[in-house]
Amino acid sequence: MKKSKSQELYNRAKNFIPGGVNSPVRAFKGVGGDPLFFKEGLGPYLVDVDENRYIDYVGAFGPLILGHRHERIIEAIQTQLKKGIGFGASTEAEIEIAEKICKHVHSIEEVRLVTSGTEATMSAIRLARGFTNRDKVVKFEGCYHGHADGLLVKAGSGALTIGQPDSLGVPSAYTDLTHVLPYNDTEAVEEYFDAHGGDTACVIVEPIAGNMNFVPPDVGFLELLREQCTVNQSVLIFDEVMTGFRVALGGAQSIYGVLPDLTTLGKVIGGGLPIGAFGGRAEIMEKIAPSGGVYQAGTLSGSPLAVAAGLAMLEVISEAGFYEELHRKTKLLMNGLEERASAADVPFTTNQAGGMFGCFFNTNKKVKTFKEVMESNERNFRTYFHEMLNNGVYLAPSMYEAGFVSMAHTEEEIRKTLDASSLAFEAIKNN
Ligand SMILES: *Cc1c(COP(=O)(O)O)cnc(C)c1O
Repeated sequence: MKKSKSQELYNRAKNFIPGGVNSPVRAFKGVGGDPLFFKEGLGPYLVDVDENRYIDYVGAFGPLILGHRHERIIEAIQTQLKKGIGFGASTEAEIEIAEKICKHVHSIEEVRLVTSGTEATMSAIRLARGFTNRDKVVKFEGCYHGHADGLLVKAGSGALTIGQPDSLGVPSAYTDLTHVLPYNDTEAVEEYFDAHGGDTACVIVEPIAGNMNFVPPDVGFLELLREQCTVNQSVLIFDEVMTGFRVALGGAQSIYGVLPDLTTLGKVIGGGLPIGAFGGRAEIMEKIAPSGGVYQAGTLSGSPLAVAAGLAMLEVISEAGFYEELHRKTKLLMNGLEERASAADVPFTTNQAGGMFGCFFNTNKKVKTFKEVMESNERNFRTYFHEMLNNGVYLAPSMYEAGFVSMAHTEEEIRKTLDASSLAFEAIKNN
């Protein structure tokens, strides 16, 4: 496989961009080797600057649930482009997307748009603190909620990949207010609330953890968080920036039947353009400026281009049968991978919901805790990643990232992926 142009661009990038990338996971630190530079995407495929073609399971890290350059999204952006890129004032389309989000995500009564997932979680936490007049925040080990100071503690994929669970530059005075508990550990949750329930502003959690590979909630875990937050009058925040409109039309909360007070969204709702959102119970949302005293604002919030792309996206994905079909495709891929691994005698298991999946290389048992994720075999993953890449399959360059199947993936791409995986599992066996 030719990589000379990518290498040339990476060397050039390193002169002017720290680490040569604008977001750390892109840098291949978790898999070794140099990052690729891409020039084009089409449906389920990515093309790099050396003309190599890959089946893409990164999907821009989540947003591209329809694949690259879906016609309805492109059309919506083009139509809006001719009318204007931004007005710094309200548009009707913002109401339309808010109505659609509230309709599909049952716990959301009012919603505010922002420009990234980080902004959504940061604002939701400020709102929870303002609403409860309390300071303490609970998060879970391995969950990532964007890179706001108080949330960068044991924060999953990006930081894990570069071997720094926490960040420099975050004053301990900020993180002192963040209490980290183990994911899926109901005893730890009960103990915490017995001691601090009365001072806790909010609990923030990924209802399916997608930033430590893919770890679903155990039976009773989300229910316990709901119960403890209700009893202690703390705000329950589901961070569905990744899972929202990805695992089901109503998000992970619709799968598990547990309703949070606030939900954060991003990724899919922008159709690939920069967007984020947070919403929930009207009583809480009304505390946001200008109706309430919790300040939050954004020059580009509700960007007409992002909203147009997001609206087109929501229209396509709310068509009947969309998620059933996406789930079926992803399941076909997961079952196939498990069969190929088993044929090669490599310990391997997968998790899946809707168009989101995770692969583990250390075990045949379902993975449920951060500790088990950390026991995953990194050497096997690296071998797998590079074999797949050399055979035309692009996976996230980190074993802590979830993977994404789009509706543009057909059975042909899935079959090609499985054939590549047979070679990869053979390579692991010969490691
Ligand atoms: C990606 C992600 C974020 C951060 O979103 P950005 O748009 O990258 O700021 C927050 N929470 C979760 C669960 C995410 O997956």
